[in-house]
Amino acid sequence: MTIWSKARHKSMFDWSLPMPDAATLPIDRARVSTTISSGVRTDWTRTEIAALFDLPFTELVFRAAEVHRAHHRAGEVQLCTLLSIKTGGCAEDCGYCSQSVKADSGVEATKLMDVQAVLQSAAQARDSGSKRFCMGAAWRNPKQRDMPAIVEMVKGVRQMGMETCMTLGMLTGEQAEQLAEAGLDYYNHNIDTSPERYGDVITTRTFEDRLDTLDKVRSAGINVCSGGIVGMGETRADRVGFVHALATMERHPESVPVNALVPVKGTVLGDMLADTPLAKIDDIEFVRTVAVARITMPLSMVRLSAGRESMSEATQALCFMAGANSIFTGDKLLTAANAGDDADAAMFARLGLKPMEGEEPMRAMKAVGGCSGGCAA
Ligand code: SF4
Repeated sequence: MTIWSKARHKSMFDWSLPMPDAATLPIDRARVSTTISSGVRTDWTRTEIAALFDLPFTELVFRAAEVHRAHHRAGEVQLCTLLSIKTGGCAEDCGYCSQSVKADSGVEATKLMDVQAVLQSAAQARDSGSKRFCMGAAWRNPKQRDMPAIVEMVKGVRQMGMETCMTLGMLTGEQAEQLAEAGLDYYNHNIDTSPERYGDVITTRTFEDRLDTLDKVRSAGINVCSGGIVGMGETRADRVGFVHALATMERHPESVPVNALVPVKGTVLGDMLADTPLAKIDDIEFVRTVAVARITMPLSMVRLSAGRESMSEATQALCFMAGANSIFTGDKLLTAANAGDDADAAMFARLGLKPMEGEEPMRAMKAVGGCSGGCAA
């Protein structure tokens, strides 16, 4: 029995209980009710999103929980595993990243991993209960010569019955098509922060470059995973702008990772924020960001990613309450430490959560020909 099946066994969540009906909930929440009844909005204004952030904390979390329960099984959390298939030496200058050549972080550059070694890691992840295997390469963009190995990795992981996700940097249209043909389920490409703040964090590519790759991924028919990082010294207005940029995409990303900055010594942001009160995002503000993402993108999977390792279980529990329903498992997130399978399984048992088994709402709707997230129908 794996640690995750033990956690499932111990789960106290009773699936025979009926899902709460938003219409019968006791207070008037016109806007949230609109979101629940009419599906998905992509016309959010910054004023509306700022107003959500400004709500009293318990009201915000309650509203987010309502939206979550209307579209997802609130006691289930998706388990994903992330493997760095090519570490360090990246030409980009992302101020938060220890893998940039500009960072003095001691991360050594490696070559692209061998396909069989990647598949071995994927098999371990599958045996530990992971449903999705995400592979990340520290590249500005993949070179054409690397694509055959990348394609083999995608095919091999899919043959194991797992979903696949890749994050390889900027793509050409042709590369996106190649990945789609290989059967790639998701492509991760974060917008990182608000359009206004973007240039303070990264100078080697623009916000528009990010959107351009996301467009190519969408056009190729691959599901989009896109989110960002909070706690980079940004303002509340930047967090509003960050959520706004995602929630007004023509179609919401199927997955929205919300990371808390892990300040690493030797990186621009790590050194800048070290020993300042900005070095760690306030837990309540982090939960607020998760809740606002959940309300504005009701069908998307909202993923707790980097930074979870240093979060208390109580904060994580609040995030799950506020609509987060996906996590990365395993001891490592690319180069940063992560909570680890044992700690997560124990937390799931304590919280009565269980690993998600079923289909994600946006993909399930797509499979039956319904709206997959970007329209109001
Ligand atoms: S975040 Fe990605 S693109 Fe940016 S420096 Fe790190 S590895 Fe390179």
